[in-house]
Amino acid sequence: MMASHPDVYDAGPIPAAARAEVDRLLKSGDLFRYTAPADAPVAMLEQEFAALLGAKYALAVSSCSAALFLSLCALGLPRNSRVLVPAFTFAAVPSSVMHANCVPVLVEVGGDYRINLDDFQAKLPQTGAVILSHMRGHTSDMDAIMALCDAAGVPVVEDAAHSLGTTWGGRNIGTFGRVGCFSFQSYKLVNAGEGGIMISDDADLIARAVIMSGAYEHNWKKHPVLQEAFNRWQNELPLYNMRMQNLSAAVIRPQLPEVAQRVRDGRANHDYVAGMLNTSPWMQVPNALPPELRAPDSIQFNLHGFYHDAEARAFAAAAGARGVQVQIFGLSGDNARAFWNWQFIPGRVPDLPQTRAMLMRACDVRLPVRLTRCELDMIGTALLSAVDDVKGTPRAYGT
Ligand SMILES: *Cc1c(COP(=O)(O)O)cnc(C)c1O
Repeated sequence: MMASHPDVYDAGPIPAAARAEVDRLLKSGDLFRYTAPADAPVAMLEQEFAALLGAKYALAVSSCSAALFLSLCALGLPRNSRVLVPAFTFAAVPSSVMHANCVPVLVEVGGDYRINLDDFQAKLPQTGAVILSHMRGHTSDMDAIMALCDAAGVPVVEDAAHSLGTTWGGRNIGTFGRVGCFSFQSYKLVNAGEGGIMISDDADLIARAVIMSGAYEHNWKKHPVLQEAFNRWQNELPLYNMRMQNLSAAVIRPQLPEVAQRVRDGRANHDYVAGMLNTSPWMQVPNALPPELRAPDSIQFNLHGFYHDAEARAFAAAAGARGVQVQIFGLSGDNARAFWNWQFIPGRVPDLPQTRAMLMRACDVRLPVRLTRCELDMIGTALLSAVDDVKGTPRAYGT
């Protein structure tokens, strides 16, 4: 009997250790992070997450999008500042820029899903900040980008929503910029349904973010951040109320010790399937950059020699018929990762031919870290067979 295809949209179980803590919180009703005088689960999560990443401070909030918004607010950018954003990201990212009364400026992304450094450099002058979205965990050249931004005096906010556990030159992604933002939404490495966290070494910046996240009156005293920074900002900043509640922290904390294993499993799974797909002349998984150690929970690959959209669509349909859901970013209707659908951005959607060409042939397949070798074989074989369905079995020349 043939085994059925794995459901890649199912989340894995939450560690059992979360149950006792959730139960304790439900019994006491102590769900608000600022009720307890000290050691609330959200405060403990902040300490543990900062230690895990090697940052001085962490602030847990309601989502990664909230963390990006608060980061821009905490940078104190003037209204209508330009904020560079890679054109390959999720719609919530340029939205967070608009929420902060700034203007998103989209930067071209190449066929390897990484920022086009020429376009980045050309757009950097007169820019208030950069949001570096490491989309799907693909890391752009951090050495080049940080050197350009440092030289121009432009602060960097890292959108590391999909990069928990990714390193560049041995250092954690999320610790390169002034702020690093992470997500605990269900399709990320750590799943709390919803939630986000920001890390920084900048006491004054994190103090502003803490207040704006909703530490009203003197609740900031429950944050282990330099207290003089708070005195400076008391009553000076709006309260946006984007706090995390204790139940979320109770679900997240027992997952943190599992991150290292999930990263190893995710990378091994990804590289195994990448090896299968790269045997085909019609599919190509871009390589990681040399300093980059990735932490993937999905795989992206480009269709090669698919000159018509209809052929690419036929491939996605054939993969679906074989039990594997493939999303081609630019060909699935109303995709939130296709920049031309971000019509909420004021002015005309810019023409970004390089990013557009990539999105029209870049495929996305979820690869949750819990999958077994057998399930990975099923996925890889289905994708190879789907290509053959459309292109016919490839023949080597001269035989
Ligand atoms: C998921 C994701 C976000 C949004 O995270 P939320 O916590 O859902 O707000 C932003 N950027 C990237 C790259 C993401 O993958």
